Amino acid sequence: MPSVILKKGKDRRLHAGHCWVYAGEIDKITGDPKDGDAVDIRDSKDRFLGRGFLNTNSQITVRRFTMQKEEIDQQFFTHRVEVALEYRREHTSIGDASVFRVVCSEADMLPGLVVDRYGDHFVLQALTLGIDQRKTQIVQVLRELFVPAAIVERSDVPSRKLEGLEETKGVLFGDTTAVVRLQFESFSVEVNLLEDQKTGFFLDQRENYAEVARHCTGKRVLDCFSYHGGFALAAAVADAESVEAVEISEPAVARARKNAELNGLTGKIEFVCANAFDLLKKYDAEKHQYDVVILDPPTFTRTKQNIEGALRGYKEINLRAVKMLSPGGILATFTCSHHIDAELFKSVVVDAAADAKKTLREIKVLTQSPDHPILPAVPETEYLRGLLLQVL
Ligand code: SAH
Repeated sequence: MPSVILKKGKDRRLHAGHCWVYAGEIDKITGDPKDGDAVDIRDSKDRFLGRGFLNTNSQITVRRFTMQKEEIDQQFFTHRVEVALEYRREHTSIGDASVFRVVCSEADMLPGLVVDRYGDHFVLQALTLGIDQRKTQIVQVLRELFVPAAIVERSDVPSRKLEGLEETKGVLFGDTTAVVRLQFESFSVEVNLLEDQKTGFFLDQRENYAEVARHCTGKRVLDCFSYHGGFALAAAVADAESVEAVEISEPAVARARKNAELNGLTGKIEFVCANAFDLLKKYDAEKHQYDVVILDPPTFTRTKQNIEGALRGYKEINLRAVKMLSPGGILATFTCSHHIDAELFKSVVVDAAADAKKTLREIKVLTQSPDHPILPAVPETEYLRGLLLQVL
């Protein structure tokens, strides 16, 4: 087996349970493997640390898939997907739902592979070269396990550049328009799996819709960065007094409007296509008041270098939200920037409240839905953090 031999002392991360090998940690590569091939990972004393796929074009040069000496073949993929399914069925609230993330990359020990199930449609994302080269095999696995109507690829993610791959999308299997209707607990939505953001919907927020909606009955709700309206729809279904949804993308607003119509909620949600930063500033100046404000912005930084700028962004929107909340009002605030850890995020929100001369009470700490599992040894698997707070 071709091997990647690590430099002395560079095996600590793997021993601690992480699965990445960085280029700078490699002493030599033996056996002349090609990029994408399976390789053994060995420490400086030639001890076996696991097996994964090689990509010398990527800073993350090997991603470990297994700590056993086993073939990473179709049977391996089938087994890993079955393990992922069993976890969701047996140990999470996902149960036997028909819309959920089936495979979540490192968190399901399949680095670089994301598979979302949208009823009888499946969406595959290949984030690494190793996975990209095995797409046909993975499609076969999904067809055998689920007998889907269609499998759509959404590998149109900028991070593929880091792997030396182009962005790509299309239908891998089946004959489909890629437009599907999804039924969630309290509302349904329509999604275009080929065109909408991510793989179509933000499945990671699903449990939080219900969590936040519980506080919306009879209340004036402002949902910022609303995309297709997940929080706004849940709030309207929960009989909010009013719901305003703010989103910068025109197509997302159009879709959210359509979703409101689908759920018989036309007229119950006011949709505003605007930059939330500008609108929050304006509303603050005009002394608008809300009982519930939801802030679910896109990531403000993908790198450590940009943390300061990101923090300024979080501070600004949280400050405006806190200022506009009525006494006893609720703030549901999120960050999906992996580099903003829980402590940092909380401190920004606390700073914002202090500037607004208000006190916060923490109702609940929120996180990503359990179909986006977290491996404590792989911190990158935890990226969505939320706080449900009461403003006193
Ligand atoms: N809350 C949504 C997901 C939000 S994702 C849900 O649960 O489905 C973040 C959204 O913010 C994206 O739809 C993006 O188009 C939008 N967005 C990005 N920058 C924005 C800005 N400055 N103002 C308003 N919306 C913005």
